Amino acid sequence: MSSTRLSPSPTPVVDVHTHVYFPRYAAELRARSSAPRILTRTGADGKPEERLLILDGEPGSGRPVGPQYWNREEKLEFMKRHHIHVSFVSSANPWLDFLPAERANTLAQALNNDLEEYCASSPKADGFPGLRSIYGFGLLPLVPHIPISSVIQTIEQIKTLPHVSGVIMGTKGIGKGLDDEALEPVWEAIESAGLVVFVHPHYGVDTQAFGNMPNGHVLPLALGFPFETTITITRLILAGVLDRYPNLRLLLAHSGGALSQLSSRIASCIAHDPVVAKRLQHDARYYLGKLYFDAVAYGPEELGFVSETIARAESYNATGGSYNADAGSTRMLFGTDHPFFPPLEGSQKWQSVEDNMKAIRNVRGWSESAQADVLGHNALKLFNLKY
Ligand code: URA
Ligand code: ZN
Repeated sequence: MSSTRLSPSPTPVVDVHTHVYFPRYAAELRARSSAPRILTRTGADGKPEERLLILDGEPGSGRPVGPQYWNREEKLEFMKRHHIHVSFVSSANPWLDFLPAERANTLAQALNNDLEEYCASSPKADGFPGLRSIYGFGLLPLVPHIPISSVIQTIEQIKTLPHVSGVIMGTKGIGKGLDDEALEPVWEAIESAGLVVFVHPHYGVDTQAFGNMPNGHVLPLALGFPFETTITITRLILAGVLDRYPNLRLLLAHSGGALSQLSSRIASCIAHDPVVAKRLQHDARYYLGKLYFDAVAYGPEELGFVSETIARAESYNATGGSYNADAGSTRMLFGTDHPFFPPLEGSQKWQSVEDNMKAIRNVRGWSESAQADVLGHNALKLFNLKY
């Protein structure tokens, strides 16, 4: 008797770091005369072209911007080309940061509804009919002078949106950063709603540190962004937020920046500083095991290093714990940063994406099943999705 064998189910590939500017948001940027803005200029071919200016002191005249930022078909085509089955899209920086409170509040709710519609009407994931191809991170109106009750109301709104399972958050909070005591009720509400917070940079560090040489976007993106994330998370740890909200799920962009590399130095500085030495429940290195890290680091050794600092985290539990070699690959998640980092010349596959996929495949010590977790299973678990 001949037996029919089902071909093995492919591993779902899930992108947790991929951005969108909804048309409503792009219109807001087009209406502005200073950054952040979208402007139109005459291109080299004599035709009008739109440019995106979002970073402080953006070099040159920003970057080209087009349908890859707002058209869902382009997102789906990009996913297909790179064998990505599911994407968790998030609004790109600078979110609502530049808006007055009332406008930020109205726009947050409208954009969250846009996001739900964008996700809910997306096709089923290719090969995984139990999943949609797109889910999302919503927005909170985190701007100066916003009543905290409005932020909480937006969390309540997001709870009602079935395809929105988290929020993307910049680092400014309502003006004083994420360690601001005023945000306590926000952390409490997010933790109790079970939403994942994707912490993402925008401002970098003081641009004077980068000098005057024409280096394009390299210094703000390669160094400014990751240091901003590193500072933000260190401040959250120092403020005891991770002690008070142990079930808060924070996903860090760009593999947490330099957090892993600097974590022992941070721990040592805390231990030697009378102001903070007794403040925290655990050694600073413990908290890395409570965080989630995207795998947008472009190299296997870098991913391996982050993984190691997660693996050792439990051994810094003040009540006792030990090294867990497998922990790293349960808390790291594939991402692309699409539509940023496109190839400079037309190419079928994006090098930035290929590099991140290859890096996951080549981390020393990650088994095939660990790679599959990082590529997709961890994300599905984080967002309570089954296929
Ligand atoms: N990636 C982002 O998310 N934003 C940028 O501005 C650049 C790269
Ligand atoms: Zn990004």
